[in-house]
Amino acid sequence: QLNAAVERIEKHPAVGNVSNSYWDATRPIGGPAGQKEFLTGAVRLTTTLSPGELLNLLKQIERDLGRTLGEHWGPRIIDLDLLLYGREIVDQALAAQDGHEPSRLKVPHPRMAFRYFVLAPAAEIAKEMIHPVTGWAIGALLDHVCCHAPLLVIGGSDRQRGSQLAGELARAIDGRLIRPADVADIGPPEPMRPEQFERYALEFTAALNSLLPPADSWPLNEWIVCEFDPAETLSR
Ligand code: ADP
Ligand code: MG
Repeated sequence: QLNAAVERIEKHPAVGNVSNSYWDATRPIGGPAGQKEFLTGAVRLTTTLSPGELLNLLKQIERDLGRTLGEHWGPRIIDLDLLLYGREIVDQALAAQDGHEPSRLKVPHPRMAFRYFVLAPAAEIAKEMIHPVTGWAIGALLDHVCCHAPLLVIGGSDRQRGSQLAGELARAIDGRLIRPADVADIGPPEPMRPEQFERYALEFTAALNSLLPPADSWPLNEWIVCEFDPAETLSR
């Protein structure tokens, strides 16, 4: 499918200098559970098409290869995303598709800067290209996601509670708190009853003591606390 997509991109008269990275099998990030691995790669090209026209070409190729409007982030036959368009920052309305809310074209692709599975193939063919929102080169972004401070992840299915606990813990150790991008959708946490909080605090202290390394290896305030597992997103 990926080779067929590249062939179709190459055939377009307004497209030239097409090169592609290796194709890598990567585990699915987000989306429904139980999906198989995805094949991922990056393509670089020059074009006289505008960003909107280029996206339309990509969507047309998706349809030609048999993609139907399926489950968002679920398994699909092909997914072509526009990652960068030179150093331009684009945020423009797109015409509504049947049965779908009107969406916006956003370039750079909003999630590319912290995704290992995007940055690794992209760095193979466009290491020096600048991601205009962060001002960092693709190669530097890749190095960045490959090295990070120790993480303490608060798991569990109660996201409101997880969010609150992560916040309390980050404050307690003066560490850094990072939130998922969709945290606004979760809403503010319900206030905790004092006895409830006390129980959690005790469990926390016990968990912390067993988890944290001796203070001299990683100072507590260099720990990152989060309510989701960024390593899932950052790693292959
Ligand atoms: P995803 O690519 O996030 O897995 P979809 O392929 O279903 O999910 O895309 C969702 C919508 O996002 C598309 O209909 C497209 O119009 C819109 N979109 C906005 N910006 C971009 C971009 N840079 N590249 C691709 N699609 C984009
Ligand atoms: Mg897509």
